[in-house]
Amino acid sequence: MNEYITLRSGERLARTIADYDSSRPNIRKRTLRSVCYAPYLSMDFDAIGAIRLCNHSHSEVARMRPDLSVIDVWRGETYRRYRAEMSAYTMDEQNCRHCVRQCRAGSGSHVFATEQFDGGANDDADPPYPKRLIFRLNSTCNLDCVMCDGLTSSRIRRERDKAPIRPSMYGERFFTDMEEILPHVEHLEFYGGEPFLVKEHVRIFEILARVNARCTIYVNTNAVSLHPRAKQFLETLNFKTIAVSMDAVNPELHGEIRRGLRSDLFFDNIDYLLTLRDKTGLSVMLNVTEHRKNWFELPQVFRFAEKKQMYLHINTCIHPHNVTLYTLPSDQCLYVLDFLERQRAELLVEFPRFSNLANYDFLLSLIRSELASRGAGWRPSLINLNAASDGHLAAPRPGVAPFDTPGKVEAEAQRILRMLDRDTAARMMRDMLVRARGFADSDAWRAVARDMERLLSGVRAHSTT
Ligand code: SF4
Repeated sequence: MNEYITLRSGERLARTIADYDSSRPNIRKRTLRSVCYAPYLSMDFDAIGAIRLCNHSHSEVARMRPDLSVIDVWRGETYRRYRAEMSAYTMDEQNCRHCVRQCRAGSGSHVFATEQFDGGANDDADPPYPKRLIFRLNSTCNLDCVMCDGLTSSRIRRERDKAPIRPSMYGERFFTDMEEILPHVEHLEFYGGEPFLVKEHVRIFEILARVNARCTIYVNTNAVSLHPRAKQFLETLNFKTIAVSMDAVNPELHGEIRRGLRSDLFFDNIDYLLTLRDKTGLSVMLNVTEHRKNWFELPQVFRFAEKKQMYLHINTCIHPHNVTLYTLPSDQCLYVLDFLERQRAELLVEFPRFSNLANYDFLLSLIRSELASRGAGWRPSLINLNAASDGHLAAPRPGVAPFDTPGKVEAEAQRILRMLDRDTAARMMRDMLVRARGFADSDAWRAVARDMERLLSGVRAHSTT
């Protein structure tokens, strides 16, 4: 065997197999060694009918059609080739770009392949059935979120893209195959769209109930689609982790970011899930997307997670390019970073055992590494845009924590003036002033509004807008 990890092209990575494997405790006892166990374990099905090895794969192994046998695909030539290559520590640089990049960067235990698949690895070199299935069988969704797109949400496809809804790619042959495969499967993951609204997913849940499958289940839900059938599945099937997408605590802001979301229903369903957690040991976590419209609300979401004892995962938002933080001008990135760093200190006082501290620090590291990567000629990539978004960095909201007192709003106005260019400062102060005037029933708020008007007229004198 090679001493180094290699690519299909023949290129040798500057990474020995021994070094890579030294950080993989789960595979020490394996007689079957592989740079990645996905081809021995996993199939990923998406809304356009593409079958891939995993949810980071770029190449399709096959495309669904009415007469296609999923079992034949699993036992077929392409899967066999990947098994042979991966067990020789050769990676397909087209398909596995994500893991190749992580491998090149020297990561071991944080390479997606090892994080995702080492735990389920076994020594079966010719497995008759997959053990892990990932389903995004349709994009049916009732929300139109600012950071999402028409490929992922049918509502966005219909309302934003004005495109027809795609037909289902999964016919009777697929579900017949699933009847045979599912009893052998150990773990399932469901994404959307909104998984509980995808009728193909409901059919899978029904099969699981019928064959009495005990595989563990992960689902990523928007938590406003827990209809009675969904609750029945949640209470009877072997759900292990429910990840809830949540981008704000404030109802008004949350509804602006995730258009169509009913905040009262969202929080009622969170309560329902937490009650279920207490009864069954189910894990309920938050999936939080950081971007231009919720940057000032992120510490509040962390506070919510701490109070409810929920794990909080940052779902790095890299597009649309006019929504992500990482294409903002550097002064705006620094302004956001400065806010989040100050809030970190406050969170540590409030929660001395801040259980999501590593995830908060990961969020900070994303902004810091973006800034550190920018050279003198840096220009943002602005290709993938949400045409329905104004693309602006949203202004903090007076009256809403952590800007719930006149003094905090005044201090924020000063920070804006100090850190941002004049046009951005004028726009954000205007937005804040409109809201601050909404609290005109108090002398303190009237005073801060007057003060902001004075500051704003000074900025306006120099701004171009
Ligand atoms: S190496 Fe990474 S991208 Fe390739 S199949 Fe394995 S997990 Fe997926």
